[in-house]
Amino acid sequence: MQELWASEMQTPDLRISCRVSKMLHYEKTPYQELMVVDTYEFGRMLFLDNIIQTNIKDEFVYHEMMAHVGLNTLPNPRRVLVVGGGDGGVIREIIKHPSVEKATLVEIDAKVVEAAQKYLPEISCALTDPRVEVIIDDGIKHVQQSKNKYDMIIVDSTDPIGPAVGLFAGEFYRSVAEALTDDGLFVAQTESPFFNRDLIARVYKEISSAFPLTRLYLACIPTYPGGLWTFTMGSKKHDPLQVDVSRIPDLATKYYSPGIHRACFELPPFVADLIK
Ligand code: SAM
Repeated sequence: MQELWASEMQTPDLRISCRVSKMLHYEKTPYQELMVVDTYEFGRMLFLDNIIQTNIKDEFVYHEMMAHVGLNTLPNPRRVLVVGGGDGGVIREIIKHPSVEKATLVEIDAKVVEAAQKYLPEISCALTDPRVEVIIDDGIKHVQQSKNKYDMIIVDSTDPIGPAVGLFAGEFYRSVAEALTDDGLFVAQTESPFFNRDLIARVYKEISSAFPLTRLYLACIPTYPGGLWTFTMGSKKHDPLQVDVSRIPDLATKYYSPGIHRACFELPPFVADLIK
């Protein structure tokens, strides 16, 4: 029997391929090609436009690091917005925080939310929580229309192509700052320090001009290009490095911990050079 492999061209010269045990879903949505497959190595995987978005084996790293570093930097986060993130993984982590009264997800593609609810219940399980509101709309428009509304905004976007291009632009970061409360903060996934060096440098600069404090941090995500991944935080007041980590609550996490809260900001020189 012929083997079936699902591949992402991570760069024109680098591909990651996973052997597929079952093809579960394929459709062209109004925004992108959506595919869900079962794989031998990473379990169930969601692809958009042939790019790996999430999978059962390593999703916890990305989702925990998107949510908890920022939420544990704020003294009392109550209202949190996720832009993108239709699989629901970041929302699942946000609602682990008892202070959060409302978590809003603004995802442009309803089909991503539907597929995650059908095929990835472990990841999407919190989307039906009473504290969660799901809005199907363009996150850029939603942020522009929100003023002084959210304590934290998390941009869980696809790579900077198609509808996600504007989520990596200076104008967007300025409207994020306006949508945040006076001591709010923002976190975005900002790609690979091996393969997206210019993007990381540009985004860091743009965020620095919209926020008084900017920090870059790292996590290890096997299915993303290069494995090492960056996140950039823009904060109006609170510094993640000033957090008393002994007071971080136990949130039942598998990657994030009080030690990781500190360690993730330790940048190897080749990464630190990007933001000098
Ligand atoms: N963790 C993932 C990664 O980096 O590979 C991202 C996961 S999440 C599925 C990304 C989502 O962002 C997609 O479902 C996509 O539809 C959504 N998205 C892209 N541009 C958007 C926009 N302008 N507004 C709202 N959602 C957007």
